[in-house]
Amino acid sequence: MIRKSTAILLLLLSFSLLSCQRDGGQGERGQKDEGRTRGAETEKREVVASLFPLYDFARNVGGERAHVTLLLPPGTESHSFEPKPADIIALTRADIFIYTNKFMEPWVDDILKGVANKDLLVVNASSGLSLMEGSGEDGHDHDREHGHGHDPVDPHVWLDFSNAIRMVNTILEGFLQVDPAHGDIYRKNAEEYQAKLKALDEKFRSTLAGCGQKMFVSGGHSAFGYLARRYGLEYRAAYGFSPDAEPTPGELAEVARILKKNRLHYLFYEELLTPRVAEAIAAETGATLLKLHAAHNVSREEMERGVTFLSLMEENLESLRTGLQCR
Ligand SMILES: [Zn+2]
Repeated sequence: MIRKSTAILLLLLSFSLLSCQRDGGQGERGQKDEGRTRGAETEKREVVASLFPLYDFARNVGGERAHVTLLLPPGTESHSFEPKPADIIALTRADIFIYTNKFMEPWVDDILKGVANKDLLVVNASSGLSLMEGSGEDGHDHDREHGHGHDPVDPHVWLDFSNAIRMVNTILEGFLQVDPAHGDIYRKNAEEYQAKLKALDEKFRSTLAGCGQKMFVSGGHSAFGYLARRYGLEYRAAYGFSPDAEPTPGELAEVARILKKNRLHYLFYEELLTPRVAEAIAAETGATLLKLHAAHNVSREEMERGVTFLSLMEENLESLRTGLQCR
């Protein structure tokens, strides 16, 4: 996944960081404590999250006690992300690193090999969740057919909000481990945020129960299988689980055929990537395009606007309401 040259660079960097840490690590930590009368009270926990949902979950759980950074620069595609030396530095200084799962971020193993930080707590946010396997009927075998070596597993677990609630728990456990003294604050923060996710889930359920259509089609990659399953909807996508494999002309024709056959007037397109494929299908079928944001990452403009996981999902519900003709 990771280029050899990048891997070597990361390895070299980790050695130099390791020696820096031996020389200066202790001193720096000691200084921090001496500099404040009650250093532990004011010191924020450094948290690095790979993808936007985890970033937002961690900000909500950590509250004022955490400084959370998003590893992916805004606008970067997440499945095929290539870590840079600066990312290793961020992790060398962090208390917690949170990622989704090895199918979503296949690059995580490589980046962690380069991190010389034995105190770093690595949190697999999908721990304990069962991942959906591809059935092949909606382009899920696509990656395998093209020989890209992806596992036929759907990694987009956060789009089932009951999973999101459990991911918040897993993240909470991480905070409790690195900062048990403030456990009550983290628990309260997590509970409050989970209540919001639960309300979101109920709003999706009640809205999507009253729609003229049960099927939605995406001209992007297959990211919404969990959402579809949760609310009893049917879902088709032009690509497989990862957006790096281009759909074949045959697969595009199949998506157009599904739209026509089911008399669907709307086609969904995904965030960040140019909706070229979706536009081509829409032009052929006369379908209207609607955005559906899977929230892997956000654009710079969205980051500046202060979008949240909840606000993105509320926008998705409005798109689905229109596309599925819900009451
Ligand atoms: Zn994806």
